[in-house]
Amino acid sequence: MFVSRYQFLTALLAGSVFVSGGLFSQGSLATQIPPASSSQTIQAENSPAKNAPTSTETVIKTSAPVTPIHITLLHVNDVYQLSPSGNPKLGGLARLATLVKAAKKENPNTLFVFSGDTISPSLESHVFRGKQMIDLWNQLGVSVAVLGNHEFDYGNDVLKQRLSESKFPWIAANVLDKKTGTPIEGISAYVIKDLAGIKLGFLGLLTVDTQDSSHPSPNVRFADPVETTDKALPEIKKAGADLVIGLTHLSMSDDQRVARLHPMQIALILGGHEHTLLQSVAGGTPILKMDSDAAKMSQVDLYIDPQAHTLEHIDWKVIPVDSTVVEDPDIAANVAHYEDQLTRSMGDIVGSTAVPLDAAQHKVRTQETVLGNFLADSLRKIGKTDIALLNSGGIRSNTQYPAGQLTLKDVISWLPFENRVVRSSLTGRAIKAALENGVSGIQDDNEPGSFPVVSGLKFTYDARSPIGQRVTQVSVNDSPLQADKTYSLTTTDYLIQGKDGYVMLKRPFHIIPGTDSELIARLIKKEKTISPVLDGRIKRLTE
Ligand SMILES: [Zn+2]
Repeated sequence: MFVSRYQFLTALLAGSVFVSGGLFSQGSLATQIPPASSSQTIQAENSPAKNAPTSTETVIKTSAPVTPIHITLLHVNDVYQLSPSGNPKLGGLARLATLVKAAKKENPNTLFVFSGDTISPSLESHVFRGKQMIDLWNQLGVSVAVLGNHEFDYGNDVLKQRLSESKFPWIAANVLDKKTGTPIEGISAYVIKDLAGIKLGFLGLLTVDTQDSSHPSPNVRFADPVETTDKALPEIKKAGADLVIGLTHLSMSDDQRVARLHPMQIALILGGHEHTLLQSVAGGTPILKMDSDAAKMSQVDLYIDPQAHTLEHIDWKVIPVDSTVVEDPDIAANVAHYEDQLTRSMGDIVGSTAVPLDAAQHKVRTQETVLGNFLADSLRKIGKTDIALLNSGGIRSNTQYPAGQLTLKDVISWLPFENRVVRSSLTGRAIKAALENGVSGIQDDNEPGSFPVVSGLKFTYDARSPIGQRVTQVSVNDSPLQADKTYSLTTTDYLIQGKDGYVMLKRPFHIIPGTDSELIARLIKKEKTISPVLDGRIKRLTE
């Protein structure tokens, strides 16, 4: 599992190496990152250089080996779950805390840094809006964090609130206030951390996709990460940084672009966003990303020349956060506090249903159902459009709900993906093509997730006909569908991006704030009792 110096030098010569899936779990890179400026060579007060060999017999002063200053960085990214998750159960903040404490004990010059995405999405965040994560990160002692795209999911006010609760700095040099052109309120472009006389400048960068994938304020602009780095590097160095560390939430290709176009200027990039263990080198800069939910933690050891303040070498390893790690009791207690609260509030009654609701997968994915009709009709009401379209694969839980009270947990179990509800418009021709895609997977014993769940329209199909010619009749609002007429549509961000074969739906769209389950829960609360019915909107011809 060790990567040899030779392999990395070869990779360096080649310009870039990109490895995924954890082939390299440990690494080492010897490099020379120049100091901030030639004058930045002041000897640190408590530098281990004092421990350098003192024998006057054999040591020639100019080439005396001195003990390098050892700084440890611990890093995770994309953490949404408080407790261990997945199968097997990995991560969990109480285990992570144990590892962080142990590393700090081993080397007091240790920082724990976070590479973004934590405020959303999770079941907990449905209730606490990310407050639970900030509280735990405060307790764990995060030194610095970069904004991730999901930090904007609940809009500007929630983000502002979370930033104000954070006892650690958040950075993002390219998330700018449109008016001032400087980082948004509560955010710095970079921070400088002084350890044993060595100044580490952390530069924050966030993916520009955040503009479309989340809900930033209209006053926020996301600048190109390379251009931002062009401007920021001289500033950070002017501010006294000996080494620059990129703390990023970018795609790997953007991380590589930033590193490649600033060769030997960024000592290290600790990134996130992909939810995959990724390791790469570009422009002489190692780039590391862990997978998600703290399943693994990276430990990076920097060895720095105490006189020149240059980097001598970097080692790193990937530490599994698994069941062999004992939970920190203080963190575990706080996690339990939030989980108890969650259990209580998820049990909140949002309203009731006068009729049984059946979310059995084989029904939802092959025919009109009461639950499907209710969800599609609700989205159409929310979007105030002619029609609504969902994919049946987005409706989960596979459970029967008797008539009676409905809890928030019930609603989230139907729609667990936190899809965004979107509004757009399309022609009758595109509607027909979308329905054809929806029934294209229908065969005996087949339960395609693309099967359409509709509102505002009725259609008939014949699964015995060839794919693309199955839909025989469509009406919207009881009038025959007109190929050239434009109709308004409510759907999800998932379908409007052409997923599940719905490529004909790809078009510009408007996002309605909130997730699908939140909006539906709110609607049930308003209506108090729901009583959806089957009305023959989907007919399958069998003879
Ligand atoms: Zn992300």
